[in-house]
This record gives sequence, C-alpha cells and structure tokens, in this order.
Amino acid sequence: MRYGIYLLFVAILMGCQQNEQQKSDQNTTKKDSLTKREVSPRLVIHGGAGTILRKNISEQRRKAYEEKLSDALRAGYSILHEGGTSSEAVVAAIQILEDSPLFNAGVGAVLTHDETISHDASFMDGATNQAGAVAGIQTVKHPILAAYLVSINSKHVLLSGEGAQQFADEQQLERVEPAYFITDRRLRQLRELQKKKHAALDPFIKDRKYGTVGAVALDKDGNIAAGTSTGGMTNKKYGRIGDSPIIGAGTYANNNTCGVSSTGHGEFFIRNVIAYDVAARMKYQQYNLKKAGDSAIAELDKKGGTGGIIALDTKGAIHMPFNTAGMFRGYYTDTSGIVVKVFGE
Ligand code: ASP
Repeated sequence: MRYGIYLLFVAILMGCQQNEQQKSDQNTTKKDSLTKREVSPRLVIHGGAGTILRKNISEQRRKAYEEKLSDALRAGYSILHEGGTSSEAVVAAIQILEDSPLFNAGVGAVLTHDETISHDASFMDGATNQAGAVAGIQTVKHPILAAYLVSINSKHVLLSGEGAQQFADEQQLERVEPAYFITDRRLRQLRELQKKKHAALDPFIKDRKYGTVGAVALDKDGNIAAGTSTGGMTNKKYGRIGDSPIIGAGTYANNNTCGVSSTGHGEFFIRNVIAYDVAARMKYQQYNLKKAGDSAIAELDKKGGTGGIIALDTKGAIHMPFNTAGMFRGYYTDTSGIVVKVFGE
C-alpha cells in the first residue's frame, strides 16, 4: 500500500515535471519563432566610391546610376522578402551590377595596362564562415557566381586565373570572350590615363574613380552574407590583384559581428585589413556598427587610403562610411523602402 502511494507520488511528480518541460519547450519555441519573425531582412549595396562630384556627373548619368542601383536592390530584396537567403540576395544584386556597363565589374570593368579584362570577386557567408573568391579571371560572365560557388563547392578559398576558369567550367558557369566586357568608355579612360604617364604622380594612383560593386544582406533567419566584384584599377600591371577578392580586406561576414564590402584603393584596404577591422572593432572593443565603421575608415584615411565600405549587423543596423567625395550606395529595408545615394552629405 505504502509502495503504491509512493509510486503514485512519483508518477504525479514526473507528470508535473513533464508539463513544466513542455511549457518551457513551448515558451522557447514561441520565443524562437518570435525572434525569427522579429528579424526584418535588409540589403545594402555599393557601386564604388571616388571623385563623384555634382559637377562631374550629368543629371542623366546620375539617374542612370540610381536606377541601376534600385534594380539591384529590388532584385536582392525580393529574394529576402520571399524568404530566400542572404547569400542568394547578395549574388542576385551583384549580378545585376555586373551586367551593367556603368560599374567597374563584369561588363564595363576597367582595363589593365594591356587593354584587357581581369576580374576579381569574393563572397562570404556569416552563418557558416565559408568563403570563396576568384582573382584575375577574364571569361566568366558573372565573377560573383564563381566566387559563391568556390565557397560552397570547393575546399579552397581563393582560385586564380586559368584554374579558376576551369573550376567555373566544372560548375557549368557561363563563359564569354573578354571582348564581351570591354566598353569604349573604359578604353578611352585607359588611354587618357596612359597619356598622363609623365605626370608627377603615378597615373595608376591618380585614377581615383573606383566603381567596384558589393552587397551585404541580412535574411529572415538572421544570417548575414557579403560579396564584392570588380575589374580592379585602371592600368593595373603585372597581374595586380586588389582587395576585392581578399577575405578580410574586400569582403567579410560573420553573424556575431557584421558583414562588410569595401571599395577604394585596394592596396590600402589589404594592408589595413579594412573589412575585418570593422568586425574586430565590434568584437574586441564592443563598438557598435557605426563607431566600428567610422573608426576603420578614419584609420584608412590616416594611412593615406581612399574609399568606403558598406556594413550591416544582425540587429539590422546599416552604415556606409567613405572618405571620398561620393560613393554610389543604397539600401532596402521594410520600413525605408529603396534608398539610393551618390554624393557625400
Ligand atoms: N578596390 C578595388 C581594387 O583596388 C577598386 C575599386 O574599389 O573600385 O581593386
């Protein structure tokens, strides 16, 4: 009898515990789904920094830039809005900018000293720490797609030249002739720059119109991804590779801190590891995104580097600092809609 009462007591106790557990499971699920629902997706992009002044750019041209940036934001954000991932949004937005002759990536990329094309691109997933990049490629139609596929289908991080193109073939990526990317405008720019080669400053450095493209996205699950694509710098020689395909310099993403895409004078971004520097300031100094971004650009400025970054954190903060006259940039959130900017404020 006594044993029977004891068993009953244990059974009731276990039942209570189970209920508590169920309740707490339910609470966690409720909390989780609430947290998940609370993450409102967003996308930030850039189309390069540089000497972008009102007097240098016609109204018509500015509008063309703004329209293309808006197209890219729309394409990337609609993926996020429909529940797609930040990786998909970054790749989609960058592909649109690569297809436009306005920017220094894909079609319309700047030309090397030998009047040819040499594309660099990188991609990083802030949830998995996976990263992929390609450098010095000439015939892959969408370099950002190649970089993304390196991040998911290769055990390496950075592939270059012919090998990267072979990898692109294995991934069945579309290839085109280098001429597909070359525009008259870039040919003219290159020749003008080469004519100035006796100027006091190295003509390579004097060309302060950048135009690399990049994107950083936050999806509904709170995951960040970042990517960057470029033709590099006009008149580059000796197989020069800039910061854009260098993880930590041109691109960085980590769900614990932020995602960053850079544009500017690549050598300075490499030496100062700018994209990672923003994340490191958040991680080790507990800076918020704005302070981290501003101080990284201040450091770049101190070292004599020019350019800018776009950055986004998991709380949804967006920051787009630069030390050039302007930067083609924009973002899309559910509350702001599409916002695009060109000049400094
Ligand atoms: N950062 C690029 C490079 O140095 C250039 C750019 O941002 O336009 O290759």
